[in-house]
Amino acid sequence: MTPSNGDKRLLANGDKRLLASIHDVGPGFESQVEQLCGLLERRLGGPRFAMLVVPDHWGRHPLRADQAFQSKLRAWSDAGVEMFVHGWFHRDTAEHSGAARFKARHLTAGEGEFLGLDEAAALQRMRDGKALVEDVIGRPAAGFIAPAWLYGEGARAALRQAGFALAEDHWKVWDAGSGAVLASGPVVTWASRSRMRTASSLAFAALARRVLAPMRTVRVAVHPGDVTKPSLIASIDATLRRFARTHRPSRYAEILR
Ligand SMILES: [Zn+2]
Repeated sequence: MTPSNGDKRLLANGDKRLLASIHDVGPGFESQVEQLCGLLERRLGGPRFAMLVVPDHWGRHPLRADQAFQSKLRAWSDAGVEMFVHGWFHRDTAEHSGAARFKARHLTAGEGEFLGLDEAAALQRMRDGKALVEDVIGRPAAGFIAPAWLYGEGARAALRQAGFALAEDHWKVWDAGSGAVLASGPVVTWASRSRMRTASSLAFAALARRVLAPMRTVRVAVHPGDVTKPSLIASIDATLRRFARTHRPSRYAEILR
């Protein structure tokens, strides 16, 4: 029996996934995270997204010391939100030279914590973050994602030993243990830091809504700062609505299977 065109389209659509995530989740951004949660739940039909948890953002917002926020994280996790470990401090405290310095300064505004760490230091922070998040949520973390999606050599080596299932950068998602690439394509994300960066992120999102539609896996990532600009929220909303039409809101864990 040959499927009709309609059937073929259904099969193809059923196969496409939308992976959405909220970055920089922690006690310092509680109200922004709640606002983003509401938006994502509305557009994705439930808690079908991931959170990237920072254990102690800038050394100022320790998750370990905030029981009320821990309870919230556990409740989100119980509801089905996947929890990734997202660095430890988020901020980059290391000295860089050459290309790494360029990346650290120009691409991340100093937020590439795992760009300059050596293997031992990266592994320690990964293990500490994993232990903390798993203790809070009472189940395994979904994976590790470096701040600003930037991994130095030390971080890449540490990642293979830290026991995480998944990792991702700007261009792909991979099996953290074996290194096997599980999904590829650029993540759609927004920048609130400066007017110019905001404008270029709005332009990229508008382009992405058209050109990324054929991709099997589309990733959308939002940040606490996004809620400060109505233009960003409108663009995030339009992007989620566009992809939710053709891509099933999914869990990262599904691409491991
Ligand atoms: Zn981040």
